[in-house]
Amino acid sequence: QAPQADAIVLFGATGDLSKRMLLPSLYFLDADGFLPEGFKVIATARADLSREAFLAEVQEILQARSEGLDETVWKRFSARLDYVPADATTAEGARALAPALADRKLPFFFLALSPSLYGRVCVALAGAGLVNKDTRIVLEKPIGRDLETSREINVAVGAVFGEESIFRIDHYLGKETVQNLLALRFANTLFEPLWNNLTIDHVQITVAETEGVGDRWPYYDEYGALRDMLQNHMLQLLCLVAMEPPADMDPDSVRNEKVKVLRSLRRFTRQDVQSASVRGQYTAGVVSGRECKGYLEERGQDTDTETFVALRADIDNWRWAGVPFFLRTGKRLPERRTQIAIQFKGVPHSIFGGEAKHDLVANRLVIDLQPDEDIELLLMNKSPGLSSGGMRLQSLPLSLSLLGAYSGPGARRRIAYERLLLDVLNGNSTLFVRRDEVEEAWRWVDGVAEAWKDAGLKPKPYAAGSWGPAGAFALIERAGRGWYE
Ligand code: NAP
Repeated sequence: QAPQADAIVLFGATGDLSKRMLLPSLYFLDADGFLPEGFKVIATARADLSREAFLAEVQEILQARSEGLDETVWKRFSARLDYVPADATTAEGARALAPALADRKLPFFFLALSPSLYGRVCVALAGAGLVNKDTRIVLEKPIGRDLETSREINVAVGAVFGEESIFRIDHYLGKETVQNLLALRFANTLFEPLWNNLTIDHVQITVAETEGVGDRWPYYDEYGALRDMLQNHMLQLLCLVAMEPPADMDPDSVRNEKVKVLRSLRRFTRQDVQSASVRGQYTAGVVSGRECKGYLEERGQDTDTETFVALRADIDNWRWAGVPFFLRTGKRLPERRTQIAIQFKGVPHSIFGGEAKHDLVANRLVIDLQPDEDIELLLMNKSPGLSSGGMRLQSLPLSLSLLGAYSGPGARRRIAYERLLLDVLNGNSTLFVRRDEVEEAWRWVDGVAEAWKDAGLKPKPYAAGSWGPAGAFALIERAGRGWYE
């Protein structure tokens, strides 16, 4: 059992991620009794704020949330909170943190900062004597924008922290349904014998957003959908669907299996560009009844960055040979949806004649992550009642609705970061991404980006509010399948 941390030092505490996710997550962990007695939250950024001014900001953020602020919890939580103004990249800044940590045995560092600062922050922390062999550090995505830059970051952080102390966040892994996918696969005897190319026809993973890039373009324009979404969140989901059963839930047991999947991804080559990929960029349109600008108007100049990508990925191993994985993600799509659909093969022979023959639909397991968390297994049933042409069939969902779990009195939907922060606090890295996973994912994604570049593939325009360029439909239809709507 790893020792429990007794403080978090939250770098970038005045930033968007801290305000929307991290500080509320810490507050909810406190509300639910998960923060140990005496645990401290030391917030830091360069802004010259007093502790009182920072507390007032945090209180306002929590009050504005739909859950409201519980005065008793706030009293307890605010007593843990401190704010230290410091430039984290300098020796002086790191030294400024030392007094707040003087009575702490095992604080952990959370870098909600631009990854370009990670290396310098680590050096400054070590220089100020704030790191020992047990000190944990949490890194946010993106770890680089390709294999080379991710290695640079990993080397710089690795020079100060051991790999077992580095917690790379992919917040999708903190989502309840993603963890439930592990329970579904490995806590039931039902699915595992079917989880292969004998029974599964193909897999679809969709991450659709209605949001546009807006004023985040300075970051986004350098990354695009492939690097911002597919390299991390979508490949992590693919790994959890495709991996072999790990021996146990030990961090390395699980992560070894995920790395094997990434290594088995068939290299994407120039020959695949037209047949197995689509790049898109949204133009003006209407999303949820609201008129939206096109990406180029937001960006203010011409750019080849894609805001949509659809890809076919193949996993070259025994389990998945011949089972395509179709991945698509985009901004300004008609609805917000993150979903994994496992499409089973049809029955080998239909015993049902007449009309019922045409009713048959192959089974499908649909795992919804956003906006609702739900798992549905679509099964064929007899339509109730009589019909003159013999028995009729219908496809009906068997639902493991997780909504019920949030609907009791006082129940609420957890922020994915709550699970992850608690795991860092307890030193459990199962739901964090190991260095070789990040690098293998980049290796594959770099192959896609290089093939696009070689082929001179420009993003195709699609109207905001549509499901991406027509090519995204052609991509899956060429393989004789269709996107699950
Ligand atoms: P942000 O809003 O720009 O905030 C950056 C924070 O870093 C601010 O608190 C800023 O405060 C602080 N900072 C900048 N330079 C500093 C320095 N030299 N020393 C100390 N503090 C410094 O960024 P963000 O959106 O919160 O993102 C933070 C990280 O999370 C990034 O790696 C991002 O890619 C990742 N991420 C964000 C989201 C999201 O939804 N926002 C989602 C996924 C991943 P001062 O200017 O006062 O120093």
